Amino acid sequence: MIWYLDFVIWIFKSMFNPVNPKQPLPKMEEKILKFWEEKKIFDKSLELRKDAELYSFYDGPPFATGSPHYGHIVASTMKDVVPRYWTMRGFNVPRVWGWDCHGLPIENIAEQELGIKRKKEILEKYGVAKFNEICRSKVLEYVEEWKKVIKRLGRWADMENAYKTMDLSFMESVWWVFKELWDKGLIYEGYRSMHICPRCETTLSQSEVAEGYKIIKDLSVVIKFELIDQPGTYLLAWTTTPWTLVGNVALAINNSVVYCKLKAPASNASRSDAGRQSSKLKNKEGIFYILAKDRIKDIFGDIEHKVVEEFKGEKLIGREYKPLFDYYASDKNLKNRENGWKIYPADFVTTEEGTGIVHIAPAFGEDDLNLGKEKNLPFVSHVDMDGTIRDEAKDFAGLDVKPIEDSLKTDVKIMKFLARKNLVFSKSKYEHSYPHCWRCETPLLNYATSSWFVSISKIKEQMLELAKKINWSPTHMREGRFGNWLEGARDWSISRQRFWASVIPIWKCDSKSKINCANIKVFGSVKELEEVNGKKITDLHKHVVDEITFACEKCGGTMRRIPDVLDTWFDSGSMPYAQVHYPFENKDEFEKSFPADFIAEGVDQTRAWFYYLHAIATAVKDSHAFKNVVVNGIILAEDGKKMSKRLQNYPDPQEVMNKYGADALRFYLMSSPVVAAENLNFSEKDLAENARRMFRMLWNSYYFFVLYASIDKFESRNTQHITRNMSNLLDKWIISELHSLIKDVNRHMEVYELSKTARLFPLFIDNLSNWYIRRSRKRFWKSENDEDKKQAYETLHYVLTELSKLMAPFTPFVSEEIYKNLTGNESVHLADFPKANKKYINEELNKQMKLVRRFVTLGLAARAKAGIKVRQPLSELMVNEVIDDNLIDLVKDEVNVKKVGFYGSIEKDPGIYIEQEGNSMAGLNVVITDDLRLEGEARELIRRIQELRKKAGYEVDNRITICYQGGSEIFEKFGDLITREVLATGAIEGGGIDADVEEFIDLETQPVRIWLKKI
Ligand SMILES: [Zn+2]
Ligand SMILES: [Zn+2]
Repeated sequence: MIWYLDFVIWIFKSMFNPVNPKQPLPKMEEKILKFWEEKKIFDKSLELRKDAELYSFYDGPPFATGSPHYGHIVASTMKDVVPRYWTMRGFNVPRVWGWDCHGLPIENIAEQELGIKRKKEILEKYGVAKFNEICRSKVLEYVEEWKKVIKRLGRWADMENAYKTMDLSFMESVWWVFKELWDKGLIYEGYRSMHICPRCETTLSQSEVAEGYKIIKDLSVVIKFELIDQPGTYLLAWTTTPWTLVGNVALAINNSVVYCKLKAPASNASRSDAGRQSSKLKNKEGIFYILAKDRIKDIFGDIEHKVVEEFKGEKLIGREYKPLFDYYASDKNLKNRENGWKIYPADFVTTEEGTGIVHIAPAFGEDDLNLGKEKNLPFVSHVDMDGTIRDEAKDFAGLDVKPIEDSLKTDVKIMKFLARKNLVFSKSKYEHSYPHCWRCETPLLNYATSSWFVSISKIKEQMLELAKKINWSPTHMREGRFGNWLEGARDWSISRQRFWASVIPIWKCDSKSKINCANIKVFGSVKELEEVNGKKITDLHKHVVDEITFACEKCGGTMRRIPDVLDTWFDSGSMPYAQVHYPFENKDEFEKSFPADFIAEGVDQTRAWFYYLHAIATAVKDSHAFKNVVVNGIILAEDGKKMSKRLQNYPDPQEVMNKYGADALRFYLMSSPVVAAENLNFSEKDLAENARRMFRMLWNSYYFFVLYASIDKFESRNTQHITRNMSNLLDKWIISELHSLIKDVNRHMEVYELSKTARLFPLFIDNLSNWYIRRSRKRFWKSENDEDKKQAYETLHYVLTELSKLMAPFTPFVSEEIYKNLTGNESVHLADFPKANKKYINEELNKQMKLVRRFVTLGLAARAKAGIKVRQPLSELMVNEVIDDNLIDLVKDEVNVKKVGFYGSIEKDPGIYIEQEGNSMAGLNVVITDDLRLEGEARELIRRIQELRKKAGYEVDNRITICYQGGSEIFEKFGDLITREVLATGAIEGGGIDADVEEFIDLETQPVRIWLKKI
């Protein structure tokens, strides 16, 4: 009765809030989110460290052109875990958000909204100014959605003061960066063979091209080019882009390759597939073919042929052939016409594929363009930048060379045209990897055009050298993907023929009257431009600055801006400077924060953001831009396919967080290989299991502590530090494990190994829940409040508190809940991160306990195999490794054996069940004596009485009396054990009068009837 009063008092006096054992995580998280917001905990965490040493973090800005997907979620989580960790380590870690505002993603949205299909519609129907303003209005359309998701994920970021790449201050710094590069001679204009997107009508950079490779079917054709001085003799050339044949102006051979002239049975000379059609070839006189000797087998297959001549390639040089088309060949005004349609030598010609003779169209290939420049070939471009064939090529005028809906359509048309003229030797389908526009999926064209470049080649050595200073997680990225990309990096094409972007700040004199006035002026600030303009400038977008012209100081002509805008990656690569409007403002702030201590993004950024940051920092600051970088892999759907909104093959991230909790999602991602740049097939099932296992264990441990600590009115005597000498081995062990964990967490976090860190937690929590608490339960349950009990409480309180701090960066919600309740302090995120104390780490004890747990597992496995319940005591567990004497009782208790014996070897025997793991072997003696059986039945009785207590609705510490009929032998021998275990004051033989519950229990050897009554 006295105890009952105590209980009532506890309800009002307890220092811990009661814990719901079945608490759904998402509900708890919502409460924490509200708390963070109301109490401004993020701001406080920054305020607290504002004078501390700076830890610099750069955010790679996302586009807000859609809701955040899993790629954003995983990167966002990494960008939250690491700054939270370093904040707790005592650093000042500002986290300013950024928005990418420019470029094709926004322009495409605007186009869709306006129903625009072709670039020229923008110019003709809307004008750049109106189009750009529509883009501006679309940029931040998804910002609210982003804020919601990022907040729900628990990521702390300053989104209110986010930088935007379209802000005047940002764009001005971009100009400054450009001017720096210009002044260092790193910017030049070049006429190059580039990849263009004909739909977006713009050039793309090497990294954008690398983004969009897809396997497509093309035609592989061998075309006949007839020699003018030997009618009836054809050179065979191979191509997979028949649409480029109209632009053919030469053929290339390799001087050192051996070529053959073959006589083949004459035919209509067309065959669509080698072999298949060969039987149809008709015998006629006088058809000869020339191709590389090494290629005859592949090209001719089983077609009948006879080699009539063998010669070195040089013999072919300078000979003329008949053009396939006469649209350009007959144009007398075509520049360099006299050099066209002849055979030239080139080293790039090999005999690895094709015929050893290469068709040259300088407008549509890099090698072709270079050869064209070298040999002064005529330049024939029959295709406009929008991918349509020009009017001159009248049979095909207006056709798209690679229509997105049927990329072969025009090729087929051209092939049919040539086939009618008997100029096709063979054709077949050809599958290969072909680049597509990363934004609109249109097949790209190789297209000669002029573009502005950053000369990467001039700074490459320096970039490689500086890259050595960067720490990558995972480490193989440095030499691998990033290193390889750097090695192969080419000059960066930075000009785009688009509208909504930072512009290239170059003005050129347009005077044609004076020869050679190529006066150029480059601007690096708003002020410089205002000086020539005479008016205030508040926007640096194309439609505004293109209006600004001024007189050429050399010739009096008009200076006009070149029309191109900047590659959006130039914005992203300039963000360290532009986000703080450097060097126009915040010089100190910039110097302190550069290079960044930490950045994180997906693996695709090795050739994009990481690369451009590095390139610009090398050029502008002779420095690397970031010291540490964590790279995540790609999250795929569960079936290993790309996540696709259309296919709905993945669960919505917000729904996942609302169902399992953001902590569960965060932990699932952070403990997976995706944070080590590997791909992850996202599995909701794995996430759910993960959440159930670890969070349940953790929550149960926390619940257990709060429940009993409240009952016993345990007050944490400032046990955030261990102040007393521990006497219990279990306490010593769990504290030792805890400090090992602290040591390992710090060790891995210091080198940015997130998944290695995360994976430590479930192991520790398993030790805590399934061993420490399990083995210590009786210490908490016993009625007397002795020193051992106090130490158990103190230890568990300390461990849970420290664990909540350790986990706070990864699982900020559940950590907050536990920490706040256990300490009464405001927030775990304002706490200092634990430091390991070597004094508490006992490696030998950890090792021994591991051994104990292993032998318990083996012993229980042997029991399961023998089909003997754990309640049935057995005589002996034999083990082959020495277990510390102090720990032997743990094994005896858990496996429920009377003895644990050490044996050098354990022999097979019908009465012995053997289990093994690695070198550890355990043998369980399964022979049950009468005494053992009786004790087993006593255990069974205890279990049934415990169930009965629950059925009766007793509280865990209610005292009872037992009445029983039958089983007197059991009560005689084990009565004390039974009453102690079930909190009974006594057991009386005979029927129970006015009992609360009664039960008939049919034990293996005898029936027993039990009555319980609460006292
Ligand atoms: Zn495109
Ligand atoms: Zn001029």
